[in-house]
Amino acid sequence: MTSPSETTSRPTVWSSAMRIDGTRLWQSLMDLAQIGATPKGGVRRLALTDLDRQGRDLVIGWLRDAGAAIDIDGAGNIFAVRRGRDDTAAVVYTGSHVDSQPSGGKFDGPYGVLAGLEVLRTLNDARVTTRKPVGVAIWTNEEGTRFIPTMGGSGAFAKVHTLDYLLAQRDIDGVSFGDALRSIGYAGSAPVGERAVDAYFEAHIEQGPILEAEDKVIGVVTGALGQRWYDCVWTGQDAHAGPTPMETRHDALRGAAAMVNAVNAIALRHAPDGRGTVGFMQVKPNSRNVIPGQVAMSAEFRHPHDETLAAMDRELRDAAATIARDLRLECDLKQVIALPASHFNPDCIDSVQRAAEMLGLSHRRIVSGAAHDAVYLSRVAPTSMIFVPCKDGISHNEIEDARPEHLEAGANVLLHAVLARAGAA
Ligand SMILES: [Zn+2]
Repeated sequence: MTSPSETTSRPTVWSSAMRIDGTRLWQSLMDLAQIGATPKGGVRRLALTDLDRQGRDLVIGWLRDAGAAIDIDGAGNIFAVRRGRDDTAAVVYTGSHVDSQPSGGKFDGPYGVLAGLEVLRTLNDARVTTRKPVGVAIWTNEEGTRFIPTMGGSGAFAKVHTLDYLLAQRDIDGVSFGDALRSIGYAGSAPVGERAVDAYFEAHIEQGPILEAEDKVIGVVTGALGQRWYDCVWTGQDAHAGPTPMETRHDALRGAAAMVNAVNAIALRHAPDGRGTVGFMQVKPNSRNVIPGQVAMSAEFRHPHDETLAAMDRELRDAAATIARDLRLECDLKQVIALPASHFNPDCIDSVQRAAEMLGLSHRRIVSGAAHDAVYLSRVAPTSMIFVPCKDGISHNEIEDARPEHLEAGANVLLHAVLARAGAA
């Protein structure tokens, strides 16, 4: 028997035959990229600036046009929900972020948001009412460039940090996150994190070279690397570069240099999944004829297994102690961030893989080297991600690029993963 409501929600296209509109998706990406566009073809749209407001306004307008109800929480996270047949059911969310790095690209973040918008538009075109509601989330300050921490909005949502902590963060000009959020009109009234999420799927460019190198279109993301971040200060003694014999020096930069080698050697010992990077160093007094008395530096490790990260941590501490002893230096090594490896939900991972198979797209399972909003969402809801290739694996750069057909394919995988979870007519 067919009830009247089922008749009105009958799709015009059988659900497995539904496809997103790749041209419309591309056009939305290019339109959003106009806001904060840089001369080299990238985007500079830092979190909670007027450009961020303009980007949010544009996307919210599109989401409203697609019939979604908009709600904004106290962290400025935006939730756009399309009704389902059962509106008491938890929402199947997709999404990402619209803020960028200072010299960022057009796709990191906007792709996940606009692929979600495209899913809603496609459901409308096909006149499909899903059983569960389907929503698009836009998370505040994912990049962590203007304000730390990174993934601030999704972290508050997942209760990794409190809203008060987030709102109190200040940028280099002393402006607080809370004031910046109010000044762009996005300090919403909805409570943070009190929202039933049935599942979360995030589409994103890979930001690495693996899919392109293996000629695969879809990355079925099974989790994200764990991370350990360190601050390290080497202290020796400033001295004149001429009169001071080599054997009596306390050269802090030699300690730092040995540490750079140690970080890289440790990561290589845990190949192929280990990563080790020193990306920051400050030399004092930084004068060419003075032996450096102090060097502050960063270090970080990433690996998919927490036990291995713990081993890398021990190796780093041993190396620091040995270097300090050999070079007669003091070493103050502090761990500042420990993010455990994320393991996404097996059902959500399977939904993504089945969608890729059904669409006949080449795919492989992959672990994300970067953290994403999905990493925090995975702590409170079943989660997975969909990666598509980006040119030469380059991201966080104005030359970041991706092929329209890959973006279209990823959005189609997103559509069918969402449909499988939300229940099509
Ligand atoms: Zn991103």
